Amino acid sequence: MKITIFGSGYVGLVTGACFAEVGNDVLCVDIDHQKIQRLEQGEIPIYEPGLEALVVENTSKGRLKFTTDIKKGVDFGLYQFIAVGTPPDEDGSADLRHVLSVAESIGTYMEEYRIIINKSTVPVGTADLVKEKVTSVLKERNVIMDFDVVSNPEFLKEGDAVNDFMKPERIVIGVDNPRTKELLRFLYSPFNRSHERFIAMDIRSAELTKYAANSMLATKISFMNEIANIAERVGADIESVRKGIGSDSRIGFSFIYPGVGYGGSCFPKDVQALERTSRKFGYDARILQAVEAVNNDQKGTIVKKIIDHFNGDIKGKVFAVWGLAFKPNTDDMREAPSRTVIEALWKEGATVKAYDPVAMEEAARIYGERDDLKYAANPEEAIIGADALVVLTEWLVFRSPDFEMIKRELRQPVVFDGRNIYSPEYMEQAGFVYYSVGRRPRG
Ligand code: NAD
Repeated sequence: MKITIFGSGYVGLVTGACFAEVGNDVLCVDIDHQKIQRLEQGEIPIYEPGLEALVVENTSKGRLKFTTDIKKGVDFGLYQFIAVGTPPDEDGSADLRHVLSVAESIGTYMEEYRIIINKSTVPVGTADLVKEKVTSVLKERNVIMDFDVVSNPEFLKEGDAVNDFMKPERIVIGVDNPRTKELLRFLYSPFNRSHERFIAMDIRSAELTKYAANSMLATKISFMNEIANIAERVGADIESVRKGIGSDSRIGFSFIYPGVGYGGSCFPKDVQALERTSRKFGYDARILQAVEAVNNDQKGTIVKKIIDHFNGDIKGKVFAVWGLAFKPNTDDMREAPSRTVIEALWKEGATVKAYDPVAMEEAARIYGERDDLKYAANPEEAIIGADALVVLTEWLVFRSPDFEMIKRELRQPVVFDGRNIYSPEYMEQAGFVYYSVGRRPRG
């Protein structure tokens, strides 16, 4: 089948590579010329395990191609995926500019029936807006042409995106007619073999499903951070509490780790966008507001611990920061807690020596050259001469470090662990002043 994908970011590129891998002809379109140039040369602009091999293999077989030519994209595929960004607007609502611009292009260039499949995360009602946009452009062109709009929210996780796409837990499709439903079922059949994962529903429900899923996961995290904050105050240990509640199968162990707050390109913006949508429809979504507020505060809790430890003055201090990405196995730093923490440390006059296995290039892109941000070639180098270590992402490489070396090289043996990856007992025995989240002995 011939498939066009607008947007070659985390979602578009993975979608394109995976559809090509199962034998389809895929054309990926992006307005970012540099990105497309790199992709054409087999260079992957993002870090995503397994993606490079798929892109290189399928490009060499001629099944995966890249272009900036929008018309070529519209001409190419019966299936036209929209996988462009939907960043937050000024008021936190989803900015639909890119989605509607693709809809306008499709309306402008289409010469025959097309299925427009929206994979971007978009508020309820966006499929209608896409439909209206295409219809109005066709009208301006004075042509009558059939097309369908489908909602197909994406649930892949950065860091395991290829796996998630190839073996999805569910394929959610929002459609308004049975024929399109069957075309989509056929398109996704290679990923739906072992058991039924295809969940078809009406379009608005599919659009809401994505926001509901992300908001539920974000709620679990904020809830757990709130319990951790309570645990710190009442002298309980959140790790014991986590095990105690996670063992209840109705609750489960996933997404109940406390930490420095959730980040990334999805949870913060999607919780906000759903809250704004609810407000627009006259409903005050109090849980979502609280989820967001707790998360914003949580990013600051580690900074407060740092400042308190140094008696309110960290001017001139140097902090080794382990982890910049919003989670392990990605280079994505969108809304990463590291950004809030680092910026707060700078504001207080401190300097940061950072190490991240893959996100340092992204940090350099975001922050440029500055005197108060240095990058280390490895985790050990970040420690040398620093006043304290701050752990912000739970990369495996940070889990079992050389504590002797850390103690020797830090000016003071102080560790602020925003991910609870070390044992408080061990750290105390090893002679560290150790701060974590919701745990005894030091918070
Ligand atoms: P991204 O920012 O990595 O990529 C978006 C790409 O779209 C960019 O390369 C941009 O240049 C391109 N683009 C913008 N306007 C365009 C246009 N008119 N035509 C062609 N290309 C255009 O974004 P992403 O992380 O891949 O997210 C895309 C969407 O998928 C968002 O709505 C996001 O919420 C959703 N989503 C993301 C994830 C994730 O883990 N990143 C998971 C599920 C859903």
